[in-house]
Amino acid sequence: MRIINLNPSADIGASSWYVQMEGHRLLMDTGTHPKLEGRQGLPNYSLIQKEDIDAVAVSHCHHDHIGSLPIALRHFPKAHVLMTELSYFLVERVLHNSVNVMTRQREEGGIEEYPLYSHDEVDDLASRFQGFKYNREIEWASFPKLRSGQFSPSLEFYDAGHALGSAGIMVRGKKETLFYTGDVCFHDQTILRGARFDDVKADVLLIETTRGNHPLPPDFTRDGEIDRLSAAILKVLKRKGSVLIPAFALGRSQEILALLALLMKAGKLPKQPVYIGGLSRVFTEIYDLEAHRANRQHTSLKLNEALQLQVLDKKQFESIKLNAGRIFVLTAGMMSENTAAHDLALRMAGEERHAIFFVGYCDPDSPGGRLKNAKPGEPFEFSKAGGRLTRRCEMDSFDLTAHANREDMLNFVTQVAPRVVLLGHGEEASVKWFAESIRARHPKMKVLVPQPGVAVEV
Ligand SMILES: [Zn+2]
Ligand SMILES: [Zn+2]
Repeated sequence: MRIINLNPSADIGASSWYVQMEGHRLLMDTGTHPKLEGRQGLPNYSLIQKEDIDAVAVSHCHHDHIGSLPIALRHFPKAHVLMTELSYFLVERVLHNSVNVMTRQREEGGIEEYPLYSHDEVDDLASRFQGFKYNREIEWASFPKLRSGQFSPSLEFYDAGHALGSAGIMVRGKKETLFYTGDVCFHDQTILRGARFDDVKADVLLIETTRGNHPLPPDFTRDGEIDRLSAAILKVLKRKGSVLIPAFALGRSQEILALLALLMKAGKLPKQPVYIGGLSRVFTEIYDLEAHRANRQHTSLKLNEALQLQVLDKKQFESIKLNAGRIFVLTAGMMSENTAAHDLALRMAGEERHAIFFVGYCDPDSPGGRLKNAKPGEPFEFSKAGGRLTRRCEMDSFDLTAHANREDMLNFVTQVAPRVVLLGHGEEASVKWFAESIRARHPKMKVLVPQPGVAVEV
């Protein structure tokens, strides 16, 4: 088996993995790097452009996993794109939104290369997308190979519990198996239940390592964290300040909205409108519509009915009054430029009565990450467009992660008992913790950290 990490950088970056197994070639994930601009943020497809890719498999619809799908498909005009049926409902919307974001970045940020693909291109690709149920075995060899009766390796999506449609990918060859976790969450979130990876065994295991540098305090519970958030929001509303919760439009936003709906229903927060952006509304509707298909809790909780959701556009966010105790759940999670969360943070950060509450991962080098690390009263560089900022508002982080806690992931490695474990999708310190912990626990297991662009044979 030959595997190449196509991520352009050694951090979390853009997920994309080339797999060559028994004469067949698979591309797993086609992300974009959230911090690198233009073509710099693309996976290194040039390394494999001469390879005849049989199929592309997508773990889930976050940008760092599918943002460059149309570009990858330019290199491989015959490959089909395999994904879960829930991802199939989401993928086109995510890619069209990406075109919109890139177009805005060209207009406002002067990035000439954008957009890297067009709405027409996304529409033209749609016929190559195929959606499958979880836990169905799919033959993925190219059509000519299948027709000639050659053995085809198979692929199976396992529910990863991270966001709607998210999957781990099992690749089975004649002799060996590979399991790729994608982004995975082993514990239950408010809506989605934890991953269903219970019977996974594989020869080679490729894991995400996002939480490797994140030890959990011994007394930590998710419910305790929700109580803390609830009390913090209530305090801000009472002093007529506004609360901004930056969250990715797909997954994180719906989990937070569900949590707010339950808190309001229980009388822990006053019933009041919650402000979101247009893209979150689209995904929230899909979460509601597909409630019966997902492995989730509160199946009858429809976010659109349970909450007074107010959808605002960019102009409205610029002018909405903030001193009336409002709640905003806005994209982007890392407050990247040209997003509602970024622009509203600029308005809120300087005032003591407001609060910005983080509920998910922020790259330390993103505007959100820099704000998170900023000391009150000390100016810091927020972003290129936003310039310098001084934080006076309240700020806090709540650990409501949609990623596997590191101990859970270690236990999963033990369960899978692979010959080789490959580490990816994490910052250096995270990867290092996993490498050391796995070696300590399983001295005979081979632990590899595939560097960007370097092929590993396993
Ligand atoms: Zn993700
Ligand atoms: Zn990811």
